[in-house]
Amino acid sequence: MTVLVLGDQLTRQVGPLTDRPDDRVLMVEAHEFARRHPYHPHKLTLVFSAMRHFRDRLRADGRAVDYHTVGTFREGFEAHFDAHPDDTLVAMEPPSHGASAGLREAAGAAGGDIEFVENDLFLCDAGSFDGWAGDGRLRHEDFYRFMRRRTGYLMEDGDPVGGEWNYDDQNRETPPEGWNPPEPPAFEPDALTREVAELVEEQFAGGYDEPPYGGAWADPGEFRWPVTRREACRALDDFVTYRLPEFGDYQDAMLEAEWALCHSLLSTSLNLGLLHPREVVERAVAAYRERDAPLHCVEGFVRQVLGWREFLRHVYRREMPGLATANQLGAGEDLPDLYWTGDTDMACLSDVVEGVRQRGYSHHIERLMVLSNFALVYGVEPAQLNEWFHAAYVDAFHWVTTPNVVEMGLFGAGVFATKPYASSANYIDRMSDYCSGCPYYKTKTTGEGACPFNALYWDFLDRNEDRLRSNHRMGLVYSHLDDKGEDLAAIREQAADIRERARDGEL
Ligand code: SF4
Repeated sequence: MTVLVLGDQLTRQVGPLTDRPDDRVLMVEAHEFARRHPYHPHKLTLVFSAMRHFRDRLRADGRAVDYHTVGTFREGFEAHFDAHPDDTLVAMEPPSHGASAGLREAAGAAGGDIEFVENDLFLCDAGSFDGWAGDGRLRHEDFYRFMRRRTGYLMEDGDPVGGEWNYDDQNRETPPEGWNPPEPPAFEPDALTREVAELVEEQFAGGYDEPPYGGAWADPGEFRWPVTRREACRALDDFVTYRLPEFGDYQDAMLEAEWALCHSLLSTSLNLGLLHPREVVERAVAAYRERDAPLHCVEGFVRQVLGWREFLRHVYRREMPGLATANQLGAGEDLPDLYWTGDTDMACLSDVVEGVRQRGYSHHIERLMVLSNFALVYGVEPAQLNEWFHAAYVDAFHWVTTPNVVEMGLFGAGVFATKPYASSANYIDRMSDYCSGCPYYKTKTTGEGACPFNALYWDFLDRNEDRLRSNHRMGLVYSHLDDKGEDLAAIREQAADIRERARDGEL
């Protein structure tokens, strides 16, 4: 048997690579696959460089590794089965929908076969999740408590440490004037990563720097992400030591001059398999036990990894393929070009998009409350925003972006989100410093210079009244909409004008 190691399974801690130490290894760097979307060049550099470093590490440890740089997986499998007829491949089940079927088909066409085993890069397997979920409604908070009890993390005698399951009310602070977060680590590209970055620039540029993408990634900043296990462990150390102690307080804050704040920046390493979620959670829990980080910070982080990340993976597994195209609000607008170009006077959107262009990353509140919120109230078709996130973010894989964007961000399916995360300029003003430097007026809804979020927000509620007014969590906002009275006509007109200006690139 040969162990097939996929680009998001770069682990020597779990899975068939560990279970079968004497077996040959196959890795396929499939370039046609990487041309399906206009990927950010840092994302392609990250995946290819991490794969090549992983190959070299295995070889240095004496493993036989066949590494094929080819167009398609089928070509890679043909090369393998030509050299090793009668062989069978074994791999962990990939989490993205249709991936295992596609790989099995490619292997079959190449004259061989693949056996898939449980993907041990997660903390909750499919059977356990389905047993927990039953036929009931999927609620993240319930699942998170189930996982806390199951793993014993932050538990004491069967109860949550500190007496509460969740310390979110302490996690919504904005930093005081003059606060400087610790500098996040940057991992300088070595010779192998530079070689891959050149290859990406030479061979993939047409995918992302030509119309209709408006030269989106033509001038990204320096590549900075961990590409080896050693670098990923350094990133984990750095987070737990320097940023975790303040992570909770400012996890929902947004500052124009600070793209990383105290966020972990571990999602790329987790999603490639360089770090296992168990060790990440256990390091954070240990920091609490050793009094190096307060409970509300550690709990907030543990909830993201042990709760949210695992929950989304299984929601995706259960709800696909419908989730990818779900659109219960019937939103039909095209994604405005400004998501690719960053070309807008709106200070919040322009800064966040520019950060994505530079480094393929922004933190979760910028993703939810700026990028997704704008698309939601604007009326963007969910699948279009999902595709943008998938192409633009270094840590984006289908299993993680689809439920986050289509459901959480754009309220596309109503599978677990109980209401849309729509807001006016109020939220952004409360949680960021963007509005003070923005040419738009945060308190104005209609007329010259009014913040686009405001009219779009009320227009969103108005347009979706049939579906949303009966939602008990929306009662208060609809009572405010009722107060708008005759202003509603002006709001509708303003919203239509905003969409027209966005289409013309004049927002
Ligand atoms: Fe964003 Fe509106 Fe604030 Fe400008 S005023 S930063 S557009 S929320």
